[in-house]
Amino acid sequence: MRQPEGTRLRRDGTAVRPAPLRQFILKTHSRCNLACTYCYIYAGADHGWRDRPRAPAEAVTRATAERIAEHAATHRLGAVSVVLHGGEPLLAGADRLAATAELVRARMPPGCTAHVSTQTNATLLTPGRLRTLREAGIRIGVSLDGGLPAHNAARVDHAGRSSWQAAAAGLRLLADTAPESFSGVLCVIDPRRDPVEVYESLLAFRPPAIDLLLPHGNWTAPPPGLPAPAADPAPYGRWLTTVFDRWWDAGRRETRVRFFEECVALLLGVPAAIERLGLQPFTAVVVETDGSIEQVDSLKSAYEGAAATGLDVFRHSFDDALAHPGIAARQAGLAALGDTCLACPLVTVCGGGHYAHRYKADRAGSGFRHPSVYCADLALLIRHIATRLAEAAGTGPGRRAPRETGR
Ligand code: SF4
Repeated sequence: MRQPEGTRLRRDGTAVRPAPLRQFILKTHSRCNLACTYCYIYAGADHGWRDRPRAPAEAVTRATAERIAEHAATHRLGAVSVVLHGGEPLLAGADRLAATAELVRARMPPGCTAHVSTQTNATLLTPGRLRTLREAGIRIGVSLDGGLPAHNAARVDHAGRSSWQAAAAGLRLLADTAPESFSGVLCVIDPRRDPVEVYESLLAFRPPAIDLLLPHGNWTAPPPGLPAPAADPAPYGRWLTTVFDRWWDAGRRETRVRFFEECVALLLGVPAAIERLGLQPFTAVVVETDGSIEQVDSLKSAYEGAAATGLDVFRHSFDDALAHPGIAARQAGLAALGDTCLACPLVTVCGGGHYAHRYKADRAGSGFRHPSVYCADLALLIRHIATRLAEAAGTGPGRRAPRETGR
């Protein structure tokens, strides 16, 4: 029997249509003014950034905008997310970011809104740049490892000097003068830091959302602290459960924590919208400064060239990208998982965790068909949140009253 056009086959032979891409991460500058010691782009396995132009030529930006519009029209999308990323995007200049946002929006087909944001280390935020970004309707997310200088010891410039003062000043400026443009803080977890101290110090900057990220790593190149000692087998899970309890027990929503909200949603049977949990198809793609279409940067932590697709915005559509085996694997849900995850009772919530964290270089070429290197941590967190939910519903061992706040 012929396979229907535009579809691919599941393991069981049934056809599945790829989910359209909805998030387009545009590299607006390929370098960074910082040299964070854990950075998976500049200190990781993939050195592709060295051969790329620092900023995209105008033709790259124009072709990208047209490809996004083409994809939105083909799939009749009502909205797309466009993330102006780096390196450090502000190295490209706030005016350039504003012009890119304007160009993308101008090309959108009728009925489709482009939500444009940027992710910065905040060290280059000034009142003038902030005004330019705000007037261009660009939401701003800040990357930080905690709200105290000691939390950010790894975030240094190329001479090894701390970036904290400049980052904190930029973040304060954003929170105080443009809170409506502040999308949140992205924080990479360091399990050696006190979890409540990190969370509360970030809260002091009044972020509307905090994204807690597990450091990228895999079975071949494990993240810091893994494999864990027998006495503390899930240090990241323990860290996260402590923050979860602090967040959950606050009695009111002090901020959104996407990791937790998505885990709660999945436990209640609602599909998740993040790539670190669940079985939903992953729908983000990267356009590099030379116009190359790539998979997301986190894959670069696995091996040199892991994110490459061989496609570019001049010769290929984003529908061509959907047909790439790497992107197809990110959309395959259960079919992309190994046997351990398939047999796991937590699989519908965990989904094998972040795709990049499943990688193992072995002779059998099993690649990403492994549990997450954070398997024990994810299991601890999911079970803990399930217990707290059951308690809140009055069905768990604690039999606590339901929460009154509408989380
Ligand atoms: S990574 Fe671990 S917890 Fe997650 S689905 Fe796989 S086996 Fe289960």
